[in-house]
Amino acid sequence: METLNIEDKAYLLKNIRDIKDFPKPGIIFKDITTLLNNKEAYGFLMDHLERRYKEIDIDFIAGIDSRGFIFGAALADRLHKGFVPIRKAGKLPYTTISEKYALEYGFDEVEIHLDAFACEKEKPRVLLVDDLIATGGTAEAAATLINKAGAECVEACMLINLAFLEGKQKIEAITPVYAVLDVE
Ligand code: AMP
Repeated sequence: METLNIEDKAYLLKNIRDIKDFPKPGIIFKDITTLLNNKEAYGFLMDHLERRYKEIDIDFIAGIDSRGFIFGAALADRLHKGFVPIRKAGKLPYTTISEKYALEYGFDEVEIHLDAFACEKEKPRVLLVDDLIATGGTAEAAATLINKAGAECVEACMLINLAFLEGKQKIEAITPVYAVLDVE
């Protein structure tokens, strides 16, 4: 499957802005709005993802609330697949299944509609998409939800992996992970 060379990765990274101390002191927030508002850079990323996944057997793309919706829904349309939102608790209107995951202090929760992957296949194949892996808790919970909803999470595709936090390994216990960019 296609990956990017060093120059291509550097080009994408150059288009992602670092915001120091957001949303709290000590965090360097990876701001992808600067990638999205550059039609060449956004198109370059989406072309890459389209080439990587177009020959892969996938039935649905699931995106994580909220930046995973941007890349996930765009990719789903390019590949002519259905899109499924995985949302923070309390946002989805129909019957849901949910998964809690630990934060630094306390818990958070993601949800999916019970019938999100309704189709003729017994076990639909799902690609999970989000913008970033930090501790890996969100994507781990999302991949678990996909499997609980009766589908199979075949890969988690993440734009940025904050490698020093080692969250990727946590997700890999459930599903293979493709990180477009690793940040050391
Ligand atoms: P985690 O569950 O710790 O892997 O956190 C991943 C989620 O939090 C993703 O949906 C990201 O959008 C968001 N996130 C966490 N840390 C950052 C960061 N430094 N920059 C941008 N987004 C982040």
